[in-house]
Amino acid sequence: MPAADNVPPPPPEDCVARKLAATTVKKFKAQLVSERDRLERVIADHERELEEARMTETSAERSPDPGSAEAGSMNFEYEKELSLGQNTVDLLRKVERALARIGDGTYGVCESCGQPIPVARLEVLPYATECVTCARRV
Ligand SMILES: [Zn+2]
Repeated sequence: MPAADNVPPPPPEDCVARKLAATTVKKFKAQLVSERDRLERVIADHERELEEARMTETSAERSPDPGSAEAGSMNFEYEKELSLGQNTVDLLRKVERALARIGDGTYGVCESCGQPIPVARLEVLPYATECVTCARRV
């Protein structure tokens, strides 16, 4: 006898119904595009600075005492610069992912739980891909 009760439930339709209005998505897309441009400029500037720092480092490489306090503080500054760049790259990735989600129509839906992300949250973080609850649950 076939088990008729095994049919999986249909996907919740109200997810689609609660999708963001096209005009709202358009507004966030404009914000995300300008944010992406800004971040790309910041990263380009930053890479140029790093390149200059690298060149300075290479010329100072023949220093007779690499373990001096001066060299140590220079490395510290350099690492700080690197981490600043990393945060910007992370942010750019988030912005690009949000733009990709606008492209495939999943923008404004939490990546983790599938619930709609409140517009108020997107106003603050247009690149948010998780709702507040999921973002806090780390
Ligand atoms: Zn969520």
